[in-house]
Amino acid sequence: MATHRKGRCACGTVTFEFDFDPTFVAICHCLDCKKASGGEAATWFGVPTTTFRVTAGADQTKGFLYVADSGKRLTRNFCTECGARLFTSDLEGFPELTFIQIGSLDDPSGIRPVLEMFVKRRLDWQKPLDLPQFSDMPH
Ligand SMILES: [Zn+2]
Ligand SMILES: [Zn+2]
Repeated sequence: MATHRKGRCACGTVTFEFDFDPTFVAICHCLDCKKASGGEAATWFGVPTTTFRVTAGADQTKGFLYVADSGKRLTRNFCTECGARLFTSDLEGFPELTFIQIGSLDDPSGIRPVLEMFVKRRLDWQKPLDLPQFSDMPH
């Protein structure tokens, strides 16, 4: 049975949950992930949208339409009370998935990255992990 997982924004107004054990968990160093997160990279995974539910604060979420480097549209959802990133939805490239970053989870134990991608943009002080490395998108 899939693990029941919960996540929330920084202030706790918005909470969500899903029942899924992600297998494709990526550390992505692409420019979109850097700019959107403000960090060196983002660690994210997709869950089937059919298992994803916003459980509190649905009216306190705001989605921003964005066209990624790939030319595909997506919506980044934030909490209107604290500004924290929540999840990414309505992906033109992956219509059946909602993407979540690992830091949003209440308990991320057991979810581990399986690869690093866009490592051509990794900053030189960041050491590679002992994982498959992809210069761009994995294929
Ligand atoms: Zn919040
Ligand atoms: Zn990325």
